[in-house]
Amino acid sequence: MRILFVTSELKPLVKTGGLADVADALPRALAGIGVEVRYLLPGYTDVLKGCIELQRIADFPPFAQLPACQLLAGTLPHSSLPAYVVACPELYERSGGPYADAYGVDWPDNHLRFAQLGRVGAVLAHSTSPAQWRPEVLHCNDWQSGMACAYLNFAAAPKAPALMTIHNLAYQGIFPPGAVAEVGLPPASFAMHGVEYYGNFSFLKAGIYYAQRISTVSPNYALEIQREPLGFGMQGLLAARATTLSGILNGIDTAEWDPAADRHLAVNYSGASLELKVRNKAALCARLGIDYDARIPLLGCISRFTFQKGLDVVLEALPEILSLPARLAVLGSGEAAQEQAFQRAAQNYPGQVAVTVGFDEALSHLIEAGADAFLMPSRYEPCGLNQMYSQRYGTLPVAHATGGLLDSVTDATHENLAARSATGFVFAPLDAPSLVACLHRLMALWRTPSLWRDMQLSAMARDFSWRHSAQEYSTLYRSMLAHA
Ligand code: ADP
Repeated sequence: MRILFVTSELKPLVKTGGLADVADALPRALAGIGVEVRYLLPGYTDVLKGCIELQRIADFPPFAQLPACQLLAGTLPHSSLPAYVVACPELYERSGGPYADAYGVDWPDNHLRFAQLGRVGAVLAHSTSPAQWRPEVLHCNDWQSGMACAYLNFAAAPKAPALMTIHNLAYQGIFPPGAVAEVGLPPASFAMHGVEYYGNFSFLKAGIYYAQRISTVSPNYALEIQREPLGFGMQGLLAARATTLSGILNGIDTAEWDPAADRHLAVNYSGASLELKVRNKAALCARLGIDYDARIPLLGCISRFTFQKGLDVVLEALPEILSLPARLAVLGSGEAAQEQAFQRAAQNYPGQVAVTVGFDEALSHLIEAGADAFLMPSRYEPCGLNQMYSQRYGTLPVAHATGGLLDSVTDATHENLAARSATGFVFAPLDAPSLVACLHRLMALWRTPSLWRDMQLSAMARDFSWRHSAQEYSTLYRSMLAHA
């Protein structure tokens, strides 16, 4: 089976969020089960530098307002997977981020930049492609590649079917109506049954509307986006397409996140040497200036500071959380108001609350290992990674009942405890009383070390590897081929 994986981000070359991680891990896992995957990437400077043996294989003339570009083919050094790259210096080779300049202001020509990526994706998936290698499925990811589905729709058969994967529905690639002509779509496509979205042009809607199949990154999020409020205005379309919409839980990098081999830890440990975990707690407390007490649970939290992540609820509940008693280690960055609120909390509760503002990969590993439990009160969470890392580290997640959190954390109910399947704590609704009530449940188990340990072992035994996800994507591709 041959898959063209279109993505605007790929770790370690270009990353702003989780898409970069998925784009790195999923194709590798697919290759591991015999699926032939090639990438299509925008020719950002870092991509051109990062690929090896890039060779020009085709030229594309200007189209509507899209400039001429070249198709290059090479190999990614990290995965050894083949990649096609859209070379277009005026669109992609600039300093700043993939979507915005150094000040965070979106590039004004993002519609052209990602329509160009989509145009090339659609050509490669078509029978008239200039490349010898033909994909059997075009796999698009998030709004940045949604236009590939639209262009492909308007091309004559034969062509490959398209899968549109939504990693986060909140980002929709919205542009003014005039952009429709600039990217060369037929005027009639600017309609409710097309790319129009509340009077504007949405690249994500283009993908969702024109793709043969849609997927998102957890089964529960696939249901949630068919309703308000998480449908973000697309709920009607997604509900209408429910039979073509699936949810496949992301995996995690189990080599990078392995407590038995993690070089960022003070001491490595596994389920068989769980008693060593506490040494990471001591090291973490020492590093962050938290008063170490083995009897008091340390709660970890690593997050972007945005409304989505629900950390305002942790701030609101903080006095009650500390009086459980519990201690808190936070690592994050994002909205200035929340950064300041957490820093104030650290000043108000020295020795009990530590807050590190910034992005710190090494510290994030030590928090996962050193904390006893991990807070994830996300308002919504398409999949979420930290709750899976936490379970692998025997650090029990405390999660709001939403999205992928609900699919990956098994609540400590009486039944689940009896069945030894509990791996964490799930609460709803998302407010301070409900979080505190959940933490009281946690404390009851914390005071029963044998039950806590059983939960840790159940959590650590969970298999969150990409192998499962890859199998499910492979099944989905196969069903698309059967339909096509
Ligand atoms: P999202 O992609 O919405 O931010 P996820 O839980 O899916 O949330 O993934 C976030 C990833 O980024 C995780 O690997 C998390 O550990 C990491 N991360 C977030 N903030 C920080 C930070 N300040 N320092 C280090 N890692 C962080």
